[in-house]
Amino acid sequence: MATDQPATSAHVKILGKAGSAGAYALRDFLHRSDVPFEWIELNSDDQARTQAGVENLTDSRLPVCVFQDGSRLECPTIRQLTEKLGWFREPTYSEYDLAIYGAGPAGLSAAVYGASEGLKTVLVERWAVGGQAGTSSKIENYLGFPSGISGADLAERAREQACRFGADILIAREGVSGEFIAGKGIGHLADGSKIVARATVCATGIQYNRLNLPNEERLAGAGLYYGAGVSEASLCANEHVVIVGGGNSGGQAAMHFSRFARIVTIVIREECLKHTLSRYLLDRITAAKNIEVLATTEVTAIAGEDVLEHVVVTNRKTRQQRSLETHWLFICIGGAPRTDWAVEAGIQRDEAGYLLTGPDLLTGGRPPEGWPLDRSPYYLETSQPGLFAAGDVRHGSVKRCASAVGEGAMAVTFVHRYLADA
Ligand SMILES: Cc1cc2nc3c(=O)[nH]c(=O)nc-3n(C[C@H](O)[C@H](O)[C@H](O)COP(=O)(O)OP(=O)(O)OC[C@H]3O[C@@H](n4cnc5c(N)ncnc54)[C@H](O)[C@@H]3O)c2cc1C
Repeated sequence: MATDQPATSAHVKILGKAGSAGAYALRDFLHRSDVPFEWIELNSDDQARTQAGVENLTDSRLPVCVFQDGSRLECPTIRQLTEKLGWFREPTYSEYDLAIYGAGPAGLSAAVYGASEGLKTVLVERWAVGGQAGTSSKIENYLGFPSGISGADLAERAREQACRFGADILIAREGVSGEFIAGKGIGHLADGSKIVARATVCATGIQYNRLNLPNEERLAGAGLYYGAGVSEASLCANEHVVIVGGGNSGGQAAMHFSRFARIVTIVIREECLKHTLSRYLLDRITAAKNIEVLATTEVTAIAGEDVLEHVVVTNRKTRQQRSLETHWLFICIGGAPRTDWAVEAGIQRDEAGYLLTGPDLLTGGRPPEGWPLDRSPYYLETSQPGLFAAGDVRHGSVKRCASAVGEGAMAVTFVHRYLADA
């Protein structure tokens, strides 16, 4: 983070034990926020006492964060961390022209265009800026970056740009429900606060799918991770890393981990990677000496006491099983939108939960039942006038950074039209 948020100089030491889910959450958040941090793994009670100042390795005060000024936070929440770093902020206005939920590429783009075009704009993000793109080690197909750019870098540039134009960015704040009264959208946040705006863009993307296996929840963050885990790659030196999923996110993760790990195993249900992976990644994975692909295979069990220790994979054709000893399992099997709030607010979704917009809402050329205006919904407008959807959360969207950025920008154009009529 840079400019208006005093984080560039913030250098945080995180002390904790291996496989600590809390420590992983802190590393992931700081990495995505592009903040330098040092991870100090504690391996004995003695180290816990002398280095972290706690009783032993099982002390509930771990992980401990130590800041440059010598102050410390014990087992902090992300909210406490953002407060400490000076990033936690209250909304500047009691009412905005535009509220955007989700600071992935779509939301960041909407914030840049909204704020630069004179709208009082607020961007609300539940975790760190960047969304899925922020977890990518290198985005190679984004226009203007011929050598690729890391997701965290791209997100940080966009965040800085949005701030320069005057957008309010509220991180570590989650929108939980919404209502639309008298032409205004009211977003209720998990911390009890609310955001009022004349127009709203929902850019909340998708959330990673789970394997739905026993032990999964218990081991999440303790050896089992969702997404490409860029913050963890350098910790995997000489280790065996297992990646589930053969799409571009899994492929990128495999390439990134292969620089550090002894061996990377990609587990895919399909017969080969050819149909799910971009050509450039396929070529590199095929050429990599330390990447193996287990085709027509799925993960059928995961086990471990405090941290992940074993992954059992089963060949779907032969039913033959193999146990892989690993502390590193990354699940990259796509995702689904989390839009339950839309049901409560009467907003139309498709069967999978993606928000329907514009032409997808029309039946025989007619707007949906209850649509109150003479005109049809604008292209990215949902069944609620003034509420727009952009990026991966939208039904029919192309799941790409550039498309999400394009939709974020386009949504702002429709916001102007909506506000002009309102
Ligand atoms: C590992 C990986 C690598 C990828 N690599 C590429 C690539 O090389 N090229 C490419 O074109 N695409 C790539 N993609 C796909 C691309 O990143 C996505 O299509 C893009 O990020 C979608 O942007 P989005 O803004 O719609 O949603 P997201 O990126 O999913 O962002 C949504 C944001 O909304 C936030 N949010 C969710 N719910 C709430 C809520 N209730 N309140 C507040 N905030 C909320 C989330 O925390 C998240 O930050 C990759 C994806 C992954 C996972």
